Amino acid sequence: MSYYDVLIVGAGHAGAQAAIALRQLGFEGSVAMIGDEQYPPYERPPLSKEYFAGEKTFERILIRPASFWEERNIDMLLGRRVKSVDPEGKFVTAGDAEIGYGKLIWCTGGSPRMLTCNGADAPNVHAVRRRDDVDAMMAKLDTINHVTVIGGGYIGLEAAAVLSKFGKKVVLLEALDRVLARVAGEDLSRFYEAEHRAHGVDLRTGAKMDCIEVTDGVATAVLMQDGERIETDMVIVGIGIIPETGPLVAAGAAGGNGVDVDEFCRTSLPDIYAVGDCAAHENDFARGARIRLESVQNANDQAKTAVTHILGKEEPYHAVPWFWSNQYDLKLQTVGLSTGHDQTILRGDPAARSFSVLYLRGGKLIALDCVNAVKDYVQGRAHVVSGAVLDQAQLADPAVPLKEVGLA
Ligand SMILES: Cc1cc2nc3c(=O)[nH]c(=O)nc-3n(C[C@H](O)[C@H](O)[C@H](O)COP(=O)(O)OP(=O)(O)OC[C@H]3O[C@@H](n4cnc5c(N)ncnc54)[C@H](O)[C@@H]3O)c2cc1C
Repeated sequence: MSYYDVLIVGAGHAGAQAAIALRQLGFEGSVAMIGDEQYPPYERPPLSKEYFAGEKTFERILIRPASFWEERNIDMLLGRRVKSVDPEGKFVTAGDAEIGYGKLIWCTGGSPRMLTCNGADAPNVHAVRRRDDVDAMMAKLDTINHVTVIGGGYIGLEAAAVLSKFGKKVVLLEALDRVLARVAGEDLSRFYEAEHRAHGVDLRTGAKMDCIEVTDGVATAVLMQDGERIETDMVIVGIGIIPETGPLVAAGAAGGNGVDVDEFCRTSLPDIYAVGDCAAHENDFARGARIRLESVQNANDQAKTAVTHILGKEEPYHAVPWFWSNQYDLKLQTVGLSTGHDQTILRGDPAARSFSVLYLRGGKLIALDCVNAVKDYVQGRAHVVSGAVLDQAQLADPAVPLKEVGLA
């Protein structure tokens, strides 16, 4: 049986950052990363943005050049999927191999939630999670015209923006009464709905689909519950992910929606950490609620927390959440978590396409969504961290820089 002092399962954002941090912090033991994709770690956000748009090659979205891992003596075991974990024997199985570990860092992200209706498994129904998903779509783009996007979250909206730029006829179906309902307030949702419509996307909210019509083995239409038939050449599904935690949970790890971890990213199993999209943690910015965050920030910062703990230091995870989304010429940057807000303040003018939505709870600024408003994003972060109660008239006045806003 081969053995590594630290074995990282999942060669994505969190896995890559864990390996990088180990070497940066001087760890000299043996390290390996097992990943079920064929590729060294790459950035996932461009898959619905610059990579899908053909503006960046795959080499440009690699987290590190392929040579980096060899130079740092990090073994890359790619194209191999971990099937089980034995926490007592301290080994995992991948294919026929058993691989022992001293510490295990579980960084497996999630798999796209797919539709379960008739036609959902047609070959032109696509998710957007992996390079292979996007390459498969890109290979067909020249021959198609009509695309139906299911789901008005960030990934669906970003894909719709790229496709409409390519001149495709895009219908976007969101079952709830507004897009981004899970992550943003109504002002932001309405702004993005209007932008997409202005770019020619047939964006529909409260849209209830029934199933996918398949003709000669391919999806040819999305059938709606009200009987409408939306002709389509391709369906893109962006309705969230299911955390990849099966082998850990089967091994006895506590969890539900993700694997439960403590403030050092330890699971309930000895010497096993979990990090990134799959890790359910108590987050300060969600008032201590146990949540999973699906963001590069969280993957990177949790990886550092786990590695620091492995190296003998206790530095609990308290990082402020941040995120971004690019659609058309709009750069959205968010900081904090808006869930549970009881007030919003609009700062700036959406018509000018540069504004921020500020989210407050009990008078405290808990989050910002900043559209083409980098200064607000940069300056608002400190207020989100401090939790101070601020002067609301100044918060609403774009002429007052956020860093100069005084206490209420
Ligand atoms: C299209 C898209 C756009 C996004 N845009 C943004 C954005 O703008 N900003 C932002 O902050 N975040 C964005 N995200 C989210 C961000 O990419 C994720 O939060 C981040 O990738 C999480 O890192 P991770 O390491 O936890 O998971 P991943 O990066 O998904 O890596 C997990 C890896 O583990 C592999 N794996 C799973 N199970 C096993 C197993 N049993 N054995 C071996 N390998 C396994 C997976 O195949 C994958 O390669 C986006 C995500 C997508 C898909």
